[in-house]
Amino acid sequence: MNICIIGTGYVGLVTGAVFADLGNNVICVDNDAEKIGMITRGVMPIYEPGLEEMVERNVDDGRLAFTTDLGEGVRMADMIFIAVGTPAGPNGEPVLTNIVEVAKGIARHLDRYKVIVNKSTVPIGTGDLLRQIIKENCENGTDFDVVSNPEFLREGSAIHDTLYPDRIVIGAPSQASAMKLLELYAPLERPMLLTDVTSAEIIKYASNAFLAMKISFINAIAEICETAGGDIVQVAKGIGYDSRIGGHFLQAGLGFGGSCFGKDIKALIHTSERLGCNSDLFRATLAINDDQPNRFVNRLKNVLGSLSGKTIGVLGLAFKPNTDDIRDARSIEVINRLLGDGAHVKAYDPVATENCRRVLPQVAYVENPYEAARDAFALLIVTEWNEFRFLDLDRIKDLLKRPLVLDGRNIYDPQKMARLGFEYYCVGRRTAK
Ligand code: NAD
Repeated sequence: MNICIIGTGYVGLVTGAVFADLGNNVICVDNDAEKIGMITRGVMPIYEPGLEEMVERNVDDGRLAFTTDLGEGVRMADMIFIAVGTPAGPNGEPVLTNIVEVAKGIARHLDRYKVIVNKSTVPIGTGDLLRQIIKENCENGTDFDVVSNPEFLREGSAIHDTLYPDRIVIGAPSQASAMKLLELYAPLERPMLLTDVTSAEIIKYASNAFLAMKISFINAIAEICETAGGDIVQVAKGIGYDSRIGGHFLQAGLGFGGSCFGKDIKALIHTSERLGCNSDLFRATLAINDDQPNRFVNRLKNVLGSLSGKTIGVLGLAFKPNTDDIRDARSIEVINRLLGDGAHVKAYDPVATENCRRVLPQVAYVENPYEAARDAFALLIVTEWNEFRFLDLDRIKDLLKRPLVLDGRNIYDPQKMARLGFEYYCVGRRTAK
């Protein structure tokens, strides 16, 4: 099949590479010339395991190309995927400027029946909006369909998730367009749900809100554990073994970050209030999450007193392991609070340093975890990169000015940390001193 992907970010680039790997001809379009230039030179603009090799292989085989020319992409394609950003506006309502611009662009170049597939996460009703904009701006009256095909990939395992999705949701307005999508995804041999456009749009928001709710739920229980003296890791296991609940997304800690959960819950709140529905559950999910960095830094201040002039080491900047994405990362919240209290911050991340440097130039970025610990009054674990689980903790202790570790991701065993002589604080577990 001939496919055009508009928006060559985390979703678009991975989707384009995987579709090409399945044997389709793919053109990825982006209006960011610098990004397209980088990819064309073989430099990936994002860190995603396995992506570079897959892109290179398919470019070499002539199935994958990149351009800034929307017309070129639209004209060659039978199916056009939209994967542009849909950031939250000031009141939580997603900003649809990119989507609208792309819809007008597609309309200008439509020359035969095509299926236009929206992969961006968009407010309920955007499918209709897209249809209307394309119809109004297509001068030759060409027929087309707009399908909703929400994306569920996770950064850090995006290639795997695209090849082996738990389900593929297809919200199609016609049998012809549904068949096209079914044919495209058939080689993956994964469960597919065929539904209407509105239901597909709701499924995306409902999925993200549910996952985020699980995280806030376990963090609310973690607070009870801290106060009552329980251990959240045991409690989460005890809850998660129940097959009706499941153990995923029950890790207590600093809460969720990233470009999706917060933005999508805000959009859901906005939509549900616009429709006159009750948004209390979504608001509570967000409020609990927003409070986690405060509770974490307050705990540090309870131990150290004033942070003014003190150096604090931070391990982990990416919003989660295996990505360089720092959008809405907890690290930014935590570091801003530390800087606001007059601390000096030294930070280390395996891949997200350059992205963070652009947002937080005041931080001293170091080359390895041990440099982050050197002469610091405390070391904070903010992202649970695997390499932090296997540090030489004796060396860390010797390098710290005070052997104080605040673990926002519960990656160490409190007893072991106490045995090694650390003052160790984690989330929802008994503290070991
Ligand atoms: P991104 O910011 O990484 O990429 C978006 C790309 O779109 C950018 O490269 C940008 O230059 C390009 N773009 C914007 N306007 C354009 C235009 N008019 N013409 C051509 N290109 C344009 O975003 P992302 O993380 O890939 O997310 C894309 C969408 O997918 C969002 O709606 C997001 O909510 C959703 N989503 C993201 C993830 C994720 O993990 N990142 C997962 C599921 C769904």
